[in-house]
Amino acid sequence: MNYDVIVVGGGPVGMMVAGELALANVNVCVLERLEAATPYSRALTVHPRTLELLDLRGLKEELLKIGKPLPTGHFAGLEARMNFEVIDSSSNYSLFIAQTETEKILEKRAVQLGVEIRRGIEVLSVSQGANAVKVVASGANGPFTLSTAYVVGADGAGSIVRKQANIPFNGTDETLTAIQGDVVLNNPPESMVTSRFDERGMIMIVPVRDKLHRVVLIDPERTSVPKNEPVTFEELRTGMIRMLGDDYGISDPYWLTRFGNATRQAERYREGRVFLAGDAAHIHFPAGGQGMNVGLQEAMNLGWKLAAEINGWAPAGLLDTYHEERLPVNTALLNNTRVQTLLFGTDFSPTMIHLRNIISDLLQSPEANYRLASQIAAVDIRYNTQGNISEHGLNGFRLAEIKLRSQNGESFSSYELFREGKYVLLHLASDERVEALIDELPHQHIKTVSATLVAPAQGWDDVHTALIRPDGYIEWAITGTEPDCLDRMQQGIALTSKG
Ligand SMILES: Cc1cc2nc3c(=O)[nH]c(=O)nc-3n(C[C@H](O)[C@H](O)[C@H](O)COP(=O)(O)OP(=O)(O)OC[C@H]3O[C@@H](n4cnc5c(N)ncnc54)[C@H](O)[C@@H]3O)c2cc1C
Repeated sequence: MNYDVIVVGGGPVGMMVAGELALANVNVCVLERLEAATPYSRALTVHPRTLELLDLRGLKEELLKIGKPLPTGHFAGLEARMNFEVIDSSSNYSLFIAQTETEKILEKRAVQLGVEIRRGIEVLSVSQGANAVKVVASGANGPFTLSTAYVVGADGAGSIVRKQANIPFNGTDETLTAIQGDVVLNNPPESMVTSRFDERGMIMIVPVRDKLHRVVLIDPERTSVPKNEPVTFEELRTGMIRMLGDDYGISDPYWLTRFGNATRQAERYREGRVFLAGDAAHIHFPAGGQGMNVGLQEAMNLGWKLAAEINGWAPAGLLDTYHEERLPVNTALLNNTRVQTLLFGTDFSPTMIHLRNIISDLLQSPEANYRLASQIAAVDIRYNTQGNISEHGLNGFRLAEIKLRSQNGESFSSYELFREGKYVLLHLASDERVEALIDELPHQHIKTVSATLVAPAQGWDDVHTALIRPDGYIEWAITGTEPDCLDRMQQGIALTSKG
Protein backbone atom coordinates (compact mmCIF):
# COMPACT_ATOMS: atom_id res chain seq x y z
CA MET A 1 0.00 0.00 0.00
CA ASN A 2 1.50 3.37 -1.00
CA TYR A 3 -0.56 5.52 1.37
CA ASP A 4 -3.24 5.31 4.04
CA VAL A 5 -5.18 8.05 2.26
CA ILE A 6 -4.94 9.68 -1.15
CA VAL A 7 -6.68 13.03 -1.35
CA VAL A 8 -7.58 13.87 -4.93
CA GLY A 9 -7.54 17.65 -5.41
CA GLY A 10 -5.34 20.21 -3.70
CA GLY A 11 -7.84 23.05 -3.39
CA PRO A 12 -8.71 24.43 0.05
CA VAL A 13 -10.75 21.40 1.07
CA GLY A 14 -8.16 18.85 -0.04
CA MET A 15 -5.39 20.69 1.80
CA MET A 16 -7.49 20.97 4.94
CA VAL A 17 -8.50 17.33 5.08
CA ALA A 18 -4.91 16.23 4.32
CA GLY A 19 -3.64 18.44 7.16
CA GLU A 20 -6.20 16.98 9.57
CA LEU A 21 -5.19 13.43 8.66
CA ALA A 22 -1.49 14.17 8.97
CA LEU A 23 -2.12 15.76 12.37
CA ALA A 24 -3.22 12.29 13.47
CA ASN A 25 -0.08 10.71 11.94
CA VAL A 26 -1.86 9.29 8.92
CA ASN A 27 0.31 8.69 5.83
CA VAL A 28 -1.42 10.94 3.32
CA CYS A 29 -0.74 12.22 -0.17
CA VAL A 30 -2.50 14.94 -2.18
CA LEU A 31 -2.66 14.51 -5.96
CA GLU A 32 -3.32 17.82 -7.72
CA ARG A 33 -3.45 18.25 -11.47
CA LEU A 34 -2.33 21.89 -11.48
CA GLU A 35 1.44 22.46 -11.55
CA ALA A 36 0.99 25.56 -9.39
CA ALA A 37 -1.85 26.94 -7.31
CA THR A 38 -4.32 29.08 -9.24
CA PRO A 39 -3.77 32.85 -8.86
CA TYR A 40 -7.54 33.48 -8.99
CA SER A 41 -9.61 33.69 -5.84
CA ARG A 42 -13.19 32.54 -6.04
CA ALA A 43 -13.95 32.89 -2.33
CA LEU A 44 -13.22 36.16 -0.57
CA THR A 45 -14.78 35.42 2.80
CA VAL A 46 -14.15 33.12 5.72
CA HIS A 47 -17.22 32.97 7.93
CA PRO A 48 -17.40 32.66 11.75
CA ARG A 49 -17.63 28.89 12.20
CA THR A 50 -14.79 28.28 9.76
CA LEU A 51 -12.69 30.82 11.64
CA GLU A 52 -13.47 29.02 14.88
CA LEU A 53 -12.40 25.70 13.39
CA LEU A 54 -9.16 27.21 12.14
CA ASP A 55 -8.72 28.72 15.59
CA LEU A 56 -8.97 25.23 17.14
CA ARG A 57 -5.90 24.28 15.14
CA GLY A 58 -4.01 27.51 15.74
CA LEU A 59 -4.42 28.74 12.16
CA LYS A 60 -6.73 31.70 12.65
CA GLU A 61 -3.92 34.07 13.59
CA GLU A 62 -2.26 33.44 10.22
CA LEU A 63 -5.42 34.45 8.40
CA LEU A 64 -5.94 37.50 10.61
CA LYS A 65 -2.51 38.83 9.60
CA ILE A 66 -3.74 39.09 6.02
CA GLY A 67 -7.54 39.38 6.12
CA LYS A 68 -9.81 42.18 7.11
CA PRO A 69 -12.63 41.53 9.60
CA LEU A 70 -16.06 42.60 8.44
CA PRO A 71 -18.85 42.55 11.03
CA THR A 72 -21.59 42.05 8.45
CA GLY A 73 -22.47 39.80 5.56
CA HIS A 74 -25.10 39.85 2.87
CA PHE A 75 -28.09 37.66 2.11
CA ALA A 76 -29.24 37.93 -1.51
CA GLY A 77 -27.69 41.39 -1.63
CA LEU A 78 -30.54 42.74 0.52
CA GLU A 79 -30.16 46.27 1.69
CA ALA A 80 -30.20 45.24 5.35
CA ARG A 81 -26.97 43.38 5.98
CA MET A 82 -26.69 40.50 8.42
CA ASN A 83 -24.88 41.44 11.57
CA PHE A 84 -22.54 38.69 12.80
CA GLU A 85 -21.60 40.62 15.94
CA VAL A 86 -24.61 39.24 17.81
CA ILE A 87 -23.22 35.70 17.60
CA ASP A 88 -21.71 34.30 20.79
CA SER A 89 -18.30 33.73 19.28
CA SER A 90 -14.78 35.07 19.51
CA SER A 91 -15.00 35.05 15.68
CA ASN A 92 -18.22 37.03 15.37
CA TYR A 93 -17.30 38.53 12.02
CA SER A 94 -16.53 37.45 8.52
CA LEU A 95 -12.91 37.68 7.44
CA PHE A 96 -12.28 39.23 4.07
CA ILE A 97 -9.39 37.26 2.61
CA ALA A 98 -8.64 35.99 -0.88
CA GLN A 99 -9.05 32.24 -1.37
CA THR A 100 -5.48 32.07 -2.70
CA GLU A 101 -4.19 33.27 0.68
CA THR A 102 -6.33 30.80 2.62
CA GLU A 103 -5.10 28.03 0.34
CA LYS A 104 -1.45 29.03 0.89
CA ILE A 105 -1.91 28.84 4.67
CA LEU A 106 -3.59 25.44 4.46
CA GLU A 107 -0.98 24.07 2.06
CA LYS A 108 1.86 25.32 4.27
CA ARG A 109 0.34 23.63 7.27
CA ALA A 110 -0.20 20.36 5.38
CA VAL A 111 3.45 20.36 4.26
CA GLN A 112 4.65 21.12 7.79
CA LEU A 113 2.67 18.15 9.07
CA GLY A 114 4.31 15.87 6.53
CA VAL A 115 1.70 15.59 3.78
CA GLU A 116 3.20 14.63 0.43
CA ILE A 117 1.80 17.00 -2.18
CA ARG A 118 2.26 15.85 -5.77
CA ARG A 119 1.39 18.55 -8.28
CA GLY A 120 0.98 18.12 -12.02
CA ILE A 121 -0.72 14.77 -11.42
CA GLU A 122 -4.15 14.13 -12.86
CA VAL A 123 -6.20 11.28 -11.46
CA LEU A 124 -7.76 9.23 -14.23
CA SER A 125 -9.54 6.44 -12.41
CA VAL A 126 -10.37 5.20 -8.95
CA SER A 127 -11.47 1.63 -8.27
CA GLN A 128 -11.93 -0.06 -4.93
CA GLY A 129 -11.63 -3.60 -3.70
CA ALA A 130 -12.36 -5.02 -0.26
CA ASN A 131 -9.14 -3.81 1.36
CA ALA A 132 -7.70 -1.11 -0.86
CA VAL A 133 -8.37 1.47 -3.54
CA LYS A 134 -6.45 1.59 -6.81
CA VAL A 135 -5.79 5.06 -8.18
CA VAL A 136 -4.55 5.50 -11.73
CA ALA A 137 -3.02 8.89 -12.37
CA SER A 138 -0.97 10.61 -15.01
CA GLY A 139 1.99 12.98 -14.67
CA ALA A 140 4.97 14.21 -16.66
CA ASN A 141 6.28 10.64 -17.03
CA GLY A 142 2.95 9.16 -18.11
CA PRO A 143 0.38 7.05 -16.29
CA PHE A 144 1.09 5.18 -13.05
CA THR A 145 -0.87 3.32 -10.40
CA LEU A 146 -1.03 3.86 -6.64
CA SER A 147 -2.68 1.86 -3.95
CA THR A 148 -4.25 3.32 -0.82
CA ALA A 149 -6.59 2.31 1.97
CA TYR A 150 -8.94 5.27 1.42
CA VAL A 151 -9.55 8.05 -1.09
CA VAL A 152 -10.99 11.48 -0.38
CA GLY A 153 -12.38 13.18 -3.47
CA ALA A 154 -11.82 16.90 -2.95
CA ASP A 155 -11.55 17.39 -6.69
CA GLY A 156 -14.20 20.02 -7.19
CA ALA A 157 -17.48 20.19 -9.05
CA GLY A 158 -16.48 17.89 -11.93
CA SER A 159 -15.11 15.28 -9.49
CA ILE A 160 -13.66 12.21 -11.20
CA VAL A 161 -13.73 10.46 -7.83
CA ARG A 162 -17.49 10.95 -7.53
CA LYS A 163 -18.05 9.68 -11.06
CA GLN A 164 -15.80 6.66 -10.60
CA ALA A 165 -17.58 5.76 -7.35
CA ASN A 166 -20.92 5.93 -9.23
CA ILE A 167 -22.36 8.39 -6.74
CA PRO A 168 -25.32 10.25 -8.29
CA PHE A 169 -25.05 14.04 -8.25
CA ASN A 170 -28.71 14.94 -7.96
CA GLY A 171 -30.10 18.41 -8.50
CA THR A 172 -30.84 21.01 -11.09
CA ASP A 173 -28.94 22.40 -14.08
CA GLU A 174 -27.92 25.98 -14.60
CA THR A 175 -30.87 28.25 -15.40
CA LEU A 176 -29.06 31.57 -15.08
CA THR A 177 -25.57 33.01 -15.10
CA ALA A 178 -23.92 36.08 -13.64
CA ILE A 179 -20.57 37.70 -14.34
CA GLN A 180 -17.68 38.54 -12.13
CA GLY A 181 -14.67 40.71 -12.81
CA ASP A 182 -11.62 41.30 -10.65
CA VAL A 183 -10.54 44.66 -12.05
CA VAL A 184 -8.68 47.80 -11.07
CA LEU A 185 -10.99 50.68 -10.13
CA ASN A 186 -8.92 53.83 -10.29
CA ASN A 187 -11.70 55.92 -8.67
CA PRO A 188 -13.41 53.32 -6.47
CA PRO A 189 -16.69 53.89 -4.63
CA GLU A 190 -16.25 55.30 -1.13
CA SER A 191 -18.05 52.61 0.83
CA MET A 192 -16.43 49.22 1.42
CA VAL A 193 -19.41 47.39 -0.12
CA THR A 194 -21.47 48.84 -2.95
CA SER A 195 -24.64 46.94 -3.74
CA ARG A 196 -27.70 47.75 -5.83
CA PHE A 197 -30.75 45.84 -6.99
CA ASP A 198 -33.43 47.35 -9.22
CA GLU A 199 -35.25 46.76 -12.49
CA ARG A 200 -31.90 47.04 -14.32
CA GLY A 201 -30.36 44.11 -12.48
CA MET A 202 -28.04 43.48 -9.55
CA ILE A 203 -24.52 44.70 -8.91
CA MET A 204 -22.09 44.34 -6.03
CA ILE A 205 -18.61 45.81 -5.70
CA VAL A 206 -16.10 44.93 -2.99
CA PRO A 207 -12.37 45.61 -2.66
CA VAL A 208 -9.97 42.70 -3.11
CA ARG A 209 -6.58 44.34 -2.47
CA ASP A 210 -5.15 47.79 -3.19
CA LYS A 211 -7.09 49.10 -6.18
CA LEU A 212 -8.21 45.64 -7.29
CA HIS A 213 -11.98 45.27 -6.85
CA ARG A 214 -14.50 42.53 -7.46
CA VAL A 215 -17.55 43.47 -9.49
CA VAL A 216 -20.42 40.96 -9.59
CA LEU A 217 -23.20 41.72 -12.01
CA ILE A 218 -26.50 40.14 -12.99
CA ASP A 219 -27.90 41.62 -16.18
CA PRO A 220 -31.54 40.52 -16.68
CA GLU A 221 -30.99 40.58 -20.45
CA ARG A 222 -27.98 38.27 -20.27
CA THR A 223 -28.77 35.65 -17.64
CA SER A 224 -29.24 32.99 -20.33
CA VAL A 225 -25.69 33.38 -21.68
CA PRO A 226 -24.00 30.01 -20.98
CA LYS A 227 -21.37 29.82 -18.26
CA ASN A 228 -18.57 28.90 -20.63
CA GLU A 229 -19.01 32.01 -22.83
CA PRO A 230 -16.09 34.33 -22.03
CA VAL A 231 -16.84 37.67 -20.34
CA THR A 232 -15.53 40.76 -22.10
CA PHE A 233 -14.17 43.82 -20.38
CA GLU A 234 -16.75 45.91 -22.27
CA GLU A 235 -19.61 43.70 -21.04
CA LEU A 236 -18.58 44.41 -17.46
CA ARG A 237 -17.92 48.11 -17.99
CA THR A 238 -21.23 48.83 -19.76
CA GLY A 239 -23.04 46.86 -17.07
CA MET A 240 -21.51 49.08 -14.39
CA ILE A 241 -22.48 52.24 -16.22
CA ARG A 242 -26.00 50.94 -16.79
CA MET A 243 -26.48 50.05 -13.10
CA LEU A 244 -24.48 52.78 -11.35
CA GLY A 245 -23.91 55.46 -13.97
CA ASP A 246 -20.14 55.18 -13.45
CA ASP A 247 -17.33 52.80 -14.39
CA TYR A 248 -15.18 54.03 -11.48
CA GLY A 249 -12.14 54.30 -13.72
CA ILE A 250 -12.12 50.59 -14.52
CA SER A 251 -8.94 49.15 -16.06
CA ASP A 252 -6.60 46.12 -15.97
CA PRO A 253 -8.97 43.15 -15.91
CA TYR A 254 -7.22 40.54 -13.81
CA TRP A 255 -9.87 37.84 -13.98
CA LEU A 256 -13.20 37.86 -15.82
CA THR A 257 -15.53 34.89 -15.39
CA ARG A 258 -19.13 33.80 -15.70
CA PHE A 259 -20.75 31.52 -13.17
CA GLY A 260 -24.08 29.75 -12.93
CA ASN A 261 -26.66 28.40 -10.53
CA ALA A 262 -26.44 24.64 -11.16
CA THR A 263 -27.36 23.16 -7.77
CA ARG A 264 -26.48 19.58 -7.01
CA GLN A 265 -25.54 17.35 -4.15
CA ALA A 266 -23.93 13.91 -3.99
CA GLU A 267 -26.46 11.29 -2.96
CA ARG A 268 -23.86 9.71 -0.69
CA TYR A 269 -20.73 11.28 0.78
CA ARG A 270 -19.24 7.84 1.26
CA GLU A 271 -19.03 4.82 -0.96
CA GLY A 272 -17.04 2.15 0.84
CA ARG A 273 -13.45 3.42 1.00
CA VAL A 274 -14.18 6.57 -0.97
CA PHE A 275 -15.36 9.88 0.51
CA LEU A 276 -16.39 13.17 -1.06
CA ALA A 277 -15.87 16.65 0.38
CA GLY A 278 -16.26 20.25 -0.76
CA ASP A 279 -17.45 21.08 -4.26
CA ALA A 280 -17.11 17.41 -5.20
CA ALA A 281 -20.05 16.80 -2.85
CA HIS A 282 -22.18 19.89 -3.55
CA ILE A 283 -22.44 22.85 -5.89
CA HIS A 284 -24.68 25.90 -5.80
CA PHE A 285 -24.84 29.54 -6.84
CA PRO A 286 -22.09 31.30 -4.86
CA ALA A 287 -24.50 33.41 -2.83
CA GLY A 288 -23.57 34.56 0.64
CA GLY A 289 -19.98 33.28 0.31
CA GLN A 290 -20.52 29.79 1.70
CA GLY A 291 -19.03 27.14 -0.63
CA MET A 292 -15.43 27.08 0.57
CA ASN A 293 -16.58 27.56 4.14
CA VAL A 294 -18.78 24.48 4.22
CA GLY A 295 -16.06 22.52 2.44
CA LEU A 296 -13.57 23.37 5.16
CA GLN A 297 -16.14 22.48 7.81
CA GLU A 298 -16.59 19.11 6.13
CA ALA A 299 -12.84 18.55 6.02
CA MET A 300 -12.77 19.03 9.80
CA ASN A 301 -15.69 16.62 10.22
CA LEU A 302 -14.15 13.91 8.07
CA GLY A 303 -10.47 14.24 9.01
CA TRP A 304 -10.54 12.98 12.58
CA LYS A 305 -13.09 10.26 11.85
CA LEU A 306 -11.06 8.79 9.02
CA ALA A 307 -7.90 9.08 11.09
CA ALA A 308 -9.68 7.28 13.95
CA GLU A 309 -10.55 4.41 11.63
CA ILE A 310 -7.00 4.17 10.29
CA ASN A 311 -5.48 4.43 13.76
CA GLY A 312 -7.72 1.63 14.95
CA TRP A 313 -9.85 3.28 17.61
CA ALA A 314 -12.99 4.33 15.70
CA PRO A 315 -16.20 2.89 17.13
CA ALA A 316 -18.47 1.04 14.73
CA GLY A 317 -20.42 3.42 12.52
CA LEU A 318 -18.26 6.49 13.16
CA LEU A 319 -17.26 6.85 9.51
CA ASP A 320 -20.88 6.78 8.40
CA THR A 321 -21.70 9.73 10.63
CA TYR A 322 -19.76 11.92 8.17
CA HIS A 323 -22.51 11.55 5.56
CA GLU A 324 -25.26 11.50 8.18
CA GLU A 325 -24.13 14.77 9.75
CA ARG A 326 -23.13 16.73 6.66
CA LEU A 327 -25.92 15.84 4.19
CA PRO A 328 -28.67 17.70 6.08
CA VAL A 329 -26.40 20.71 6.69
CA ASN A 330 -25.67 20.96 2.99
CA THR A 331 -29.28 20.36 2.00
CA ALA A 332 -30.09 23.49 4.03
CA LEU A 333 -27.19 25.29 2.31
CA LEU A 334 -28.51 24.39 -1.14
CA ASN A 335 -31.95 25.62 -0.10
CA ASN A 336 -30.66 28.96 1.17
CA THR A 337 -28.63 29.58 -1.98
CA ARG A 338 -31.67 28.69 -4.12
CA VAL A 339 -33.72 31.24 -2.19
CA GLN A 340 -31.03 33.89 -2.56
CA THR A 341 -30.84 33.21 -6.30
CA LEU A 342 -34.58 33.65 -6.53
CA LEU A 343 -34.36 36.95 -4.66
CA PHE A 344 -31.59 38.53 -6.70
CA GLY A 345 -31.31 36.71 -10.00
CA THR A 346 -34.67 35.82 -11.46
CA ASP A 347 -37.13 38.66 -11.23
CA PHE A 348 -36.42 42.37 -11.36
CA SER A 349 -40.05 43.55 -11.28
CA PRO A 350 -41.46 46.14 -8.85
CA THR A 351 -43.10 43.27 -6.95
CA MET A 352 -39.71 41.67 -6.33
CA ILE A 353 -38.33 45.02 -5.22
CA HIS A 354 -41.21 45.25 -2.71
CA LEU A 355 -40.61 41.71 -1.53
CA ARG A 356 -36.93 42.43 -1.01
CA ASN A 357 -37.80 45.58 0.93
CA ILE A 358 -40.18 43.64 3.16
CA ILE A 359 -37.55 40.99 3.91
CA SER A 360 -34.96 43.70 4.48
CA ASP A 361 -37.29 45.34 7.01
CA LEU A 362 -37.81 42.01 8.77
CA LEU A 363 -34.07 41.46 8.90
CA GLN A 364 -33.78 44.58 11.03
CA SER A 365 -35.48 42.66 13.81
CA PRO A 366 -32.79 41.23 16.12
CA GLU A 367 -34.31 37.78 16.17
CA ALA A 368 -34.54 37.50 12.38
CA ASN A 369 -31.01 38.80 12.03
CA TYR A 370 -29.79 36.31 14.62
CA ARG A 371 -31.45 33.32 12.94
CA LEU A 372 -30.14 34.15 9.48
CA ALA A 373 -26.68 35.27 10.58
CA SER A 374 -26.30 32.07 12.65
CA GLN A 375 -27.20 29.97 9.63
CA ILE A 376 -24.82 31.66 7.20
CA ALA A 377 -22.12 31.71 9.88
CA ALA A 378 -22.81 27.97 10.39
CA VAL A 379 -22.93 28.26 14.17
CA ASP A 380 -26.48 26.90 14.45
CA ILE A 381 -25.57 23.31 13.61
CA ARG A 382 -26.49 20.62 16.12
CA TYR A 383 -25.25 17.13 15.43
CA ASN A 384 -26.97 14.07 16.77
CA THR A 385 -24.04 13.06 18.97
CA GLN A 386 -23.93 10.22 21.46
CA GLY A 387 -25.21 12.62 24.09
CA ASN A 388 -27.93 10.16 25.01
CA ILE A 389 -25.77 9.12 27.96
CA SER A 390 -27.36 12.16 29.55
CA GLU A 391 -29.56 15.01 28.32
CA HIS A 392 -27.90 18.38 28.27
CA GLY A 393 -28.57 21.58 26.33
CA LEU A 394 -24.97 21.69 25.06
CA ASN A 395 -24.97 18.20 23.53
CA GLY A 396 -24.30 18.27 19.80
CA PHE A 397 -23.65 22.01 19.58
CA ARG A 398 -20.32 23.61 18.79
CA LEU A 399 -18.05 24.69 21.60
CA ALA A 400 -18.04 28.47 21.63
CA GLU A 401 -14.69 29.65 22.94
CA ILE A 402 -14.62 29.84 26.76
CA LYS A 403 -11.87 31.08 29.03
CA LEU A 404 -10.58 28.56 31.53
CA ARG A 405 -8.28 28.62 34.52
CA SER A 406 -5.95 25.71 35.19
CA GLN A 407 -5.36 24.24 38.65
CA ASN A 408 -2.16 26.28 38.92
CA GLY A 409 -4.05 29.50 38.23
CA GLU A 410 -3.12 30.13 34.60
CA SER A 411 -5.93 31.22 32.32
CA PHE A 412 -6.21 29.89 28.79
CA SER A 413 -8.66 29.50 25.93
CA SER A 414 -10.68 26.32 25.52
CA TYR A 415 -9.66 26.39 21.86
CA GLU A 416 -5.99 25.89 22.72
CA LEU A 417 -6.86 22.39 23.89
CA PHE A 418 -7.62 21.25 20.36
CA ARG A 419 -4.30 21.90 18.66
CA GLU A 420 -3.45 18.17 18.55
CA GLY A 421 -6.83 17.22 17.08
CA LYS A 422 -7.86 14.99 19.98
CA TYR A 423 -11.06 14.61 21.94
CA VAL A 424 -11.04 16.85 25.00
CA LEU A 425 -12.47 15.68 28.30
CA LEU A 426 -13.01 18.88 30.21
CA HIS A 427 -13.65 18.52 33.90
CA LEU A 428 -14.88 21.65 35.69
CA ALA A 429 -15.98 20.48 39.13
CA SER A 430 -12.74 19.55 40.96
CA ASP A 431 -14.28 16.17 41.74
CA GLU A 432 -11.55 13.90 43.10
CA ARG A 433 -13.26 10.78 41.74
CA VAL A 434 -13.10 12.22 38.23
CA GLU A 435 -9.53 13.34 38.62
CA ALA A 436 -8.58 9.77 39.56
CA LEU A 437 -10.49 8.48 36.55
CA ILE A 438 -8.79 10.98 34.25
CA ASP A 439 -5.35 9.91 35.45
CA GLU A 440 -6.07 6.32 34.58
CA LEU A 441 -7.80 6.88 31.26
CA PRO A 442 -6.30 4.43 28.75
CA HIS A 443 -7.35 6.30 25.62
CA GLN A 444 -4.59 8.06 23.67
CA HIS A 445 -7.17 9.92 21.57
CA ILE A 446 -8.54 11.84 24.55
CA LYS A 447 -6.83 14.82 26.13
CA THR A 448 -7.98 15.37 29.69
CA VAL A 449 -8.13 18.72 31.40
CA SER A 450 -9.26 19.83 34.84
CA ALA A 451 -10.02 23.52 35.00
CA THR A 452 -12.55 26.09 36.13
CA LEU A 453 -14.46 28.72 34.17
CA VAL A 454 -12.88 32.17 34.36
CA ALA A 455 -16.29 33.78 33.80
CA PRO A 456 -19.83 32.48 33.43
CA ALA A 457 -20.42 31.06 29.94
CA GLN A 458 -23.77 30.43 28.31
CA GLY A 459 -24.96 26.87 28.96
CA TRP A 460 -21.97 25.90 31.11
CA ASP A 461 -23.12 26.90 34.60
CA ASP A 462 -24.17 23.35 35.65
CA VAL A 463 -21.52 21.39 33.73
CA HIS A 464 -19.51 18.96 35.79
CA THR A 465 -17.63 17.36 32.85
CA ALA A 466 -17.93 17.54 29.08
CA LEU A 467 -16.47 15.51 26.26
CA ILE A 468 -15.77 17.55 23.14
CA ARG A 469 -14.96 16.08 19.74
CA PRO A 470 -11.76 16.87 17.87
CA ASP A 471 -13.76 19.13 15.54
CA GLY A 472 -15.10 21.15 18.44
CA TYR A 473 -18.63 19.75 18.80
CA ILE A 474 -19.81 18.74 22.25
CA GLU A 475 -20.31 14.99 22.37
CA TRP A 476 -21.94 15.22 25.78
CA ALA A 477 -22.00 17.36 28.88
CA ILE A 478 -23.00 16.06 32.26
CA THR A 479 -24.10 17.77 35.45
CA GLY A 480 -22.82 16.95 38.93
CA THR A 481 -26.35 16.28 40.14
CA GLU A 482 -26.67 13.07 38.10
CA PRO A 483 -26.80 10.31 40.75
CA ASP A 484 -24.57 7.96 38.74
CA CYS A 485 -22.48 10.70 37.16
CA LEU A 486 -19.22 8.75 37.16
CA ASP A 487 -20.72 5.63 35.57
CA ARG A 488 -22.34 7.69 32.87
CA MET A 489 -19.09 9.44 32.13
CA GLN A 490 -17.27 6.15 31.80
CA GLN A 491 -20.03 4.92 29.53
CA GLY A 492 -19.75 8.13 27.47
CA ILE A 493 -15.99 7.81 27.17
CA ALA A 494 -16.28 4.17 26.14
CA LEU A 495 -18.65 5.13 23.32
CA THR A 496 -15.89 7.11 21.62
CA SER A 497 -13.76 4.07 20.95
CA LYS A 498 -13.86 0.57 19.61
CA GLY A 499 -15.61 -2.23 21.54
C1 LIG B 1 -17.55 33.11 -8.59
C2 LIG B 1 -17.40 32.34 -7.31
C3 LIG B 1 -17.31 33.02 -6.10
C4 LIG B 1 -17.20 32.30 -4.90
N1 LIG B 1 -17.14 32.98 -3.71
C5 LIG B 1 -17.09 32.28 -2.54
C6 LIG B 1 -17.03 32.95 -1.26
O1 LIG B 1 -17.00 34.17 -1.17
N2 LIG B 1 -16.97 32.19 -0.14
C7 LIG B 1 -16.94 30.83 -0.19
O2 LIG B 1 -16.89 30.18 0.87
N3 LIG B 1 -16.98 30.17 -1.38
C8 LIG B 1 -17.06 30.86 -2.54
N4 LIG B 1 -17.06 30.19 -3.74
C9 LIG B 1 -17.00 28.72 -3.74
C10 LIG B 1 -15.57 28.21 -3.47
O3 LIG B 1 -14.65 28.82 -4.32
C11 LIG B 1 -15.54 26.70 -3.63
O4 LIG B 1 -16.58 26.15 -2.87
C12 LIG B 1 -14.20 26.11 -3.17
O5 LIG B 1 -13.15 26.46 -4.03
C13 LIG B 1 -14.29 24.59 -3.12
O6 LIG B 1 -13.07 24.07 -2.73
P1 LIG B 1 -12.68 22.57 -3.13
O7 LIG B 1 -11.33 22.35 -2.56
O8 LIG B 1 -13.80 21.68 -2.77
O9 LIG B 1 -12.64 22.56 -4.72
P2 LIG B 1 -11.71 23.37 -5.72
O10 LIG B 1 -11.30 24.66 -5.15
O11 LIG B 1 -12.44 23.37 -7.01
O12 LIG B 1 -10.41 22.48 -5.82
C14 LIG B 1 -10.44 21.24 -6.49
C15 LIG B 1 -9.03 20.91 -6.92
O13 LIG B 1 -9.03 19.61 -7.49
C16 LIG B 1 -8.18 19.60 -8.62
N5 LIG B 1 -8.61 18.49 -9.47
C17 LIG B 1 -9.79 18.35 -10.12
N6 LIG B 1 -9.82 17.20 -10.80
C18 LIG B 1 -8.64 16.57 -10.56
C19 LIG B 1 -8.09 15.33 -10.99
N7 LIG B 1 -8.78 14.49 -11.79
N8 LIG B 1 -6.85 15.01 -10.56
C20 LIG B 1 -6.14 15.83 -9.75
N9 LIG B 1 -6.63 17.02 -9.32
C21 LIG B 1 -7.86 17.39 -9.73
C22 LIG B 1 -8.38 20.96 -9.23
O14 LIG B 1 -7.29 21.34 -10.05
C23 LIG B 1 -8.51 21.85 -7.99
O15 LIG B 1 -7.28 22.38 -7.58
C24 LIG B 1 -17.18 30.89 -4.94
C25 LIG B 1 -17.25 30.23 -6.17
C26 LIG B 1 -17.37 30.93 -7.34
C27 LIG B 1 -17.48 30.18 -8.64
